[in-house]
Amino acid sequence: MRAIAMVDYGDVDVLKEIDLPKPSPGKGEVLVRVKAVALNHLDLWTRRGMVGHTHEFPHILGSDIAGVVEEVGEGVSDLKPGDEVVLAPAKSCGVCEMCTLGEDNLCPHYSILGEHVDGGYVEYLAIERKYVFRKVEGLSFVEAAAIPLAALTAYNALIRKGNLQPTETILIMSAGGGVGSLAVQIAKNVVGARVITTVGSDWKVEKALHLGADRVINWRKEDILEVIKKEFGRVDIVLDHTGSMHIEKLIRATRWGGRIVMYGATSGYDARVDLRHIFYRQVSLIGSTMGRRGDLFRIWRLVDMGKIKPVVDSVFPFTEEGVREAHRKLESGQVFGKVVISME
Ligand SMILES: [Zn+2]
Repeated sequence: MRAIAMVDYGDVDVLKEIDLPKPSPGKGEVLVRVKAVALNHLDLWTRRGMVGHTHEFPHILGSDIAGVVEEVGEGVSDLKPGDEVVLAPAKSCGVCEMCTLGEDNLCPHYSILGEHVDGGYVEYLAIERKYVFRKVEGLSFVEAAAIPLAALTAYNALIRKGNLQPTETILIMSAGGGVGSLAVQIAKNVVGARVITTVGSDWKVEKALHLGADRVINWRKEDILEVIKKEFGRVDIVLDHTGSMHIEKLIRATRWGGRIVMYGATSGYDARVDLRHIFYRQVSLIGSTMGRRGDLFRIWRLVDMGKIKPVVDSVFPFTEEGVREAHRKLESGQVFGKVVISME
């Protein structure tokens, strides 16, 4: 079968088409014919060798996978060939304290597809039944692949870690990001909060308003802190992934007793923070990574109810050049929503 693998760390030219044996499903596994795989910034960091652990090459990227059941292994009775499915973006041990508590994203063996273990830039993938979810009817494979990792991240950060309330005002950084575009919808359509968000280009403003944001700040033209102070006073909660570039202003934009939920540090992790604003104004800095696999059931229900919709920026073919182009596109920052590779 065809696969587009990383053969080293580096620029997009380390992505090469290779031939791999077609896997067969083991006991309790499902063989999925991949129809679409969505990119995440994680793909870029992994390709550049920036995720903090090493890989054996060739390594297969791709965390967000939608496809069709090709074959089921022994003991799998509730799925059959032809069923349309989406995969959970990460695996865990299933037996440790955290897994047993349902907090599998705190499992010491938590493995994200495409980062810690091989992912979805392949024609076929065999995976345990528990990681396979039925695709919501009416979604295309491309749309379905645009959901799992970003939605889990947004849901965990806003609902579980952030405890966002309908009476609150939230600042969501980067409405055009995979997580941001879903976070705006969850904050607005699921919770009913007031939503301020940021973009870095004028063409993204209208799209962010269309997702439901109440106020969109182009941070290259307007000062985030000044706009918030002038129009809102301060915000109750911030959802941030930008890291060192904005953190000082974001802390100042947060109200006394407010909280900042952080799920990344895109612009750099070596930040300077005035700690007086943390303890004296009692601001909480909360870390969040991925989310509970069980929350995917709720996420699919929210998609089915029309409360959150996948936001797809662009679709590329599953060829060596197509995958490289998809990486270049995401790297350019000129995207609103997800970049997806389609096998159809
Ligand atoms: Zn575990």
